[in-house]
Amino acid sequence: MIIQSLNIELPVSENFRVQKNRFVPQSVSINNDEVELKKLKRISIVSGTHGDELEGQYVCYLLTNWLENNQDKINGIIDIYPSLNSLGIDSITRSIPFYNVDLNRIFPGNKNDFLPSQIADGIIEEISGSDYAVDIHSSNIFLRELPQVRMSAEFKDKLLPLAKKLGIDFVWIHDAITVLEATFAHTMNSRGTKTLVVEMGVGMRITPEYCFSLADGLKNMMADIGILNIETKKLKEPVISENGEVFYLNAGASGLFVPTTSHYEILKKGEKIGNIVSPLSGKIEEEVFSPSDGVLFTLREYPIVYEGSLLARIFGKNSSEINNK
Ligand SMILES: [Zn+2]
Repeated sequence: MIIQSLNIELPVSENFRVQKNRFVPQSVSINNDEVELKKLKRISIVSGTHGDELEGQYVCYLLTNWLENNQDKINGIIDIYPSLNSLGIDSITRSIPFYNVDLNRIFPGNKNDFLPSQIADGIIEEISGSDYAVDIHSSNIFLRELPQVRMSAEFKDKLLPLAKKLGIDFVWIHDAITVLEATFAHTMNSRGTKTLVVEMGVGMRITPEYCFSLADGLKNMMADIGILNIETKKLKEPVISENGEVFYLNAGASGLFVPTTSHYEILKKGEKIGNIVSPLSGKIEEEVFSPSDGVLFTLREYPIVYEGSLLARIFGKNSSEINNK
């Protein structure tokens, strides 16, 4: 059932709103059984915090489509919010349009502040009380990400077992210093909702195979926590990083970055990743090599680079260990 879950008046008689599609067991009425609903486990699947990230839109479609056709398998409350930053999604804008504020940097927000802060506050109020949440992001237009879950070391013990049920490629655990506290996930985790952040694909595009895989993983996770009544599957185990093992490769020259390797390559130290070339001089300005054995989990998608632009991230680990996972 589609429900308007947040509605804030805008200055010129328009409204900012967030909608969700709520699924409950067939035995429970969405409107009448408040007491019955409170007894059920609840998961909130959210996306569109950044309006230029569309992979999550397709994942929401795939899940909703499946749930519509499998209502007899639903054992809890599943709330799907495709576009938290609905103005951003509608205009393919990363931040909240006009205010130019990144919604994922102002949580938990405040009712008495400006519009972006009111939106953040309304979202937290709406989703609080969920047992679980999954926040789906898709990088930006510059970088392509292998499907991965990111979490802070602080919540690792609670979140890692959950992340392993998603059949995702990679889990990146950050230490406390690099964690942004003003994010949706940090606020929700601090308030007791186990919240996973998924990053995958590239901004403004969809990568169907990643979306199919995550939709399947989410069903598997929901089965594991008792929200869906389907068989759990044994999905692939993620490669798990602890902080300190991730290498950042930055451009040493300006030009056109042309990769020579494909994404999610298991690399050997010294293996070539790509060239930075000059269209004007016809010369190779820089050859880019892997500084370590490891998994290439971030690769530049947008070809124009300046000195210092991020080209790739590599989780450095002995490649035989990764192959044997
Ligand atoms: Zn994002």
